[in-house]
Amino acid sequence: MIMPLINGLKITLKHLFMKPVTLQYPDERPTPSPNYRGLHALKVSHNRAKCVACYLCPTVCPAKCITVEAGEDQNHDKYAERYEIDLLRCIFCGYCVEACPVDALKMTDQFELANYKREDFVFVKERLLEK
Ligand code: SF4
Ligand code: SF4
Repeated sequence: MIMPLINGLKITLKHLFMKPVTLQYPDERPTPSPNYRGLHALKVSHNRAKCVACYLCPTVCPAKCITVEAGEDQNHDKYAERYEIDLLRCIFCGYCVEACPVDALKMTDQFELANYKREDFVFVKERLLEK
């Protein structure tokens, strides 16, 4: 009769002196795992986005939240004139990054994505460029 009570107390005492697993966010910030899939970033090379507007990422995206419009520069090379990701629809699966043939896209560890207006969740090319 008394043993379950003692066992329960033992567990309570053990947890009382353990290091807390919760963080006092936002004063304490977590370090995301290296594999964390947060906000996307378009990689930059030679002062412009590496994206060659091949349309593979919008094709594989299961949420259909990527919009790409191709442009052509003076050397007839394609580039993304428009590149947008609607984060309200994105499920952060990472397929877009895997599909990119030129490694132009990555997912960062940025997880603080809350916002007030719907339009602020649409990340246009300028907002996605790697800083
Ligand atoms: S992470 Fe997934 S859902 Fe989000 S844009 Fe990429 S492919 Fe689409
Ligand atoms: S798959 Fe890569 S190169 Fe193709 S449109 Fe997407 S980001 Fe650009």
